[in-house]
Amino acid sequence: MSELRQLTERRRVRVTGTVQGVGFRPFVFRHAVALGLVGFVLNDSSGVLIEVEGEHTELAELCRLLSEAPPPLARVTSVDWATLPSDGTFDSFRIVDSTADRVPNVAVSVDSATCDDCLSEVDDPYDRRYGYPFTNCTNCGPRYTIVLSVPYDRPATTMAGFKMCAECQTEYEDPVDRRFHAQPNACPSCGPRIAFYHPTGRLLAEAGAALDAVVEVLCAGQIVAIKGIGGYHLACDASNHEAVAELRRRKARDDKPFALMVTDLEMARSMCVLDPGAESALGCVARPIVLARRKPGTAVADGVAPGMPDLGLMLPYTPLHHLLMAKVARPLVMSSGNQSDDPIAHADEDAFARLGPMVDAVLAHDRRIHVRCDDSVVRATGRRLQMVRRSRGYAPEALLLPRESARQVLAVGAELKSTVSVAKKSLVVCSHHIGDLEHLATYQAFLQATVHLCRLFGIEPEVVAHDLHPEYLSTKHALDLDLEPWPVQHHHAHIASCLAEHGHTGTVLGIAFDGLGYGTDGTMWGGEFLVADFNGFERAAHLQPVPMPGGAAAVREPWRMALAWTARAAGADAAARLGTALDPRWSQVLPLAVADSERRHSILTTSVGRLFDAVAALVGLRSQVTYEGQAAIELEVLARSVPRTSAPKYPTEIVDAASPEGFDVLDPSPLIATVLTEVERGTDRSVIAAGFHEGLGRATAALGARLARRHGLDTVALSGGVFQNVRFSDIVEDALAAEGLTVLVHESVPPNDGGISVGQAAIAALGTRPD
Ligand SMILES: [Zn+2]
Ligand SMILES: [Zn+2]
Repeated sequence: MSELRQLTERRRVRVTGTVQGVGFRPFVFRHAVALGLVGFVLNDSSGVLIEVEGEHTELAELCRLLSEAPPPLARVTSVDWATLPSDGTFDSFRIVDSTADRVPNVAVSVDSATCDDCLSEVDDPYDRRYGYPFTNCTNCGPRYTIVLSVPYDRPATTMAGFKMCAECQTEYEDPVDRRFHAQPNACPSCGPRIAFYHPTGRLLAEAGAALDAVVEVLCAGQIVAIKGIGGYHLACDASNHEAVAELRRRKARDDKPFALMVTDLEMARSMCVLDPGAESALGCVARPIVLARRKPGTAVADGVAPGMPDLGLMLPYTPLHHLLMAKVARPLVMSSGNQSDDPIAHADEDAFARLGPMVDAVLAHDRRIHVRCDDSVVRATGRRLQMVRRSRGYAPEALLLPRESARQVLAVGAELKSTVSVAKKSLVVCSHHIGDLEHLATYQAFLQATVHLCRLFGIEPEVVAHDLHPEYLSTKHALDLDLEPWPVQHHHAHIASCLAEHGHTGTVLGIAFDGLGYGTDGTMWGGEFLVADFNGFERAAHLQPVPMPGGAAAVREPWRMALAWTARAAGADAAARLGTALDPRWSQVLPLAVADSERRHSILTTSVGRLFDAVAALVGLRSQVTYEGQAAIELEVLARSVPRTSAPKYPTEIVDAASPEGFDVLDPSPLIATVLTEVERGTDRSVIAAGFHEGLGRATAALGARLARRHGLDTVALSGGVFQNVRFSDIVEDALAAEGLTVLVHESVPPNDGGISVGQAAIAALGTRPD
């Protein structure tokens, strides 16, 4: 006995990461009690703190469980402990109330799909939560969208106004209950309720009757605004052609595909071809929209995703969705609740004002949404999961930096697909998707997001990282702040975001291909080969610059880029011949499309995104776009219908004339000339699209490999919106790997501008200060 007592020891254990609001304290409690340990556990502003006394083996076992088998929603970053003198003051194990001290430094957890335990209660007629749309527990439910501040406790959430009934309170206080300290805990007698409204705000039905009412109008082909976790959806029957067309008309949204919610995996399988990656993405607790190939004959209106072979599917992620989907038993359009490009509506007054005129009814509830959060979008590429929009279910999960940051950083991102990030110590936290800042309401959401993220993560930024583009609203805001500005070139940020997600600290050859980003020379870059790390970059090569006739008009009208590339590849006469077929305004635009070093009529661009646009216009796919990247997306869709092995062999030789500044230049003129010849010959445009992808991809990799060798680098990082094109990305990746290079490709961070703030934050956190 005395020997055993000698082994008694006391430890202070510090756990960091996403450890609050995920059932961590109950988890510690249960194991500590089972192991016969005494002491306490509490949430504080650094994470979870445990002081525990007992025998060495049991203490070791507890520490092992903390790091190796934490609760399902926890993301443990570190478990550190120190031995303290054992003083025998503890007689039991307790959970101590949170201490709201000092500066918070904990990760707030993500919103998570309803767990199976909760679902079976919702489905059980004998359970007190039968049919209750807000059922949740420590393993599931809303988090980020309801948190006002930290520590994460009920008074700091939008559940503060709901007083728990005696039964809920008992669950909340019972350490062995699944709802022990589940902050959004609620039941039909004490929690939030749903209500069904006329679009003018007149109450029509409540609770169960509200659900029946909404099912009835949806099945009748009407359009309903439905309040969810991170905002409102606009919903209608996806198999009803008129309803879908009407929704598209009311939303003033031209061609962007609508997302669908399906009842279960079975229904998803009946509609789309799902590989194991897609299936696991559909079912994961983040419940993103998963883009997958549509099966022929699927009973979905054409207006859901016009001209697209893919559908965006998601499974229900709240009890309300489960109840609704079980009753309608058909796929529903669940599009974000906004008109055109406005931010998604999340506040009730705002929803009635903005969405009222667009819908026939509203299904709302009285749990406030504090942070608007769109659905996330992922694509299973066959090789990995690609993040297209990182938002609900993923934000604000932290990314681990490869080193500790020297400073606290705010990074304000770019302009389109905006996100903001903060960095402190070894973490970068990226916000939810905010949207395109050119809209006033989105800009206001951006301002709120910067403040909220800093508060939640206890960031007092010393520096603000921003884009070089002087006209970006994010840049202007950054320069207005009383913080040291840290300018980061757009494509450098892209590459750094890829390095950060892979924890890669060395120098790489970065290939950043995207729409447009402001270059250090004041031209619009977008086809860049950079020798880069967190400290800086050197531009090693770029795409051949061509004029962008009409500036921003060339983004909306790909035919303008077709003129510019034809003029480059085949001369002004060829461009003139082509012009008549492209657009009646060609003759006014042609002079702007011909590169002229003397007069410089147009802005020059090295954008690969614009090159894809040009080819899309050349093959007759489309000469106008209604959203950025549309033409390029459709070109990829065309190419995909031809297997890679059957793609024609188009020129892959790089015309590597050095630029006047001495850079290597990737000039795809021979490739464009071939495209022109094939179009004239009447070759199937899918075949041309496949040949172009293959040719440009191989040429890119050949130049990349050569540059990597020249600079003694063994790793290449691919980033920028163009690499969302899976066909193209795979070609480049394979050809680089065949050269023996390690290729870093995005997974958890979007390759598009949604990832820019992550790259900016990583550079300002880990890099050396710019002069
Ligand atoms: Zn649950
Ligand atoms: Zn209750």
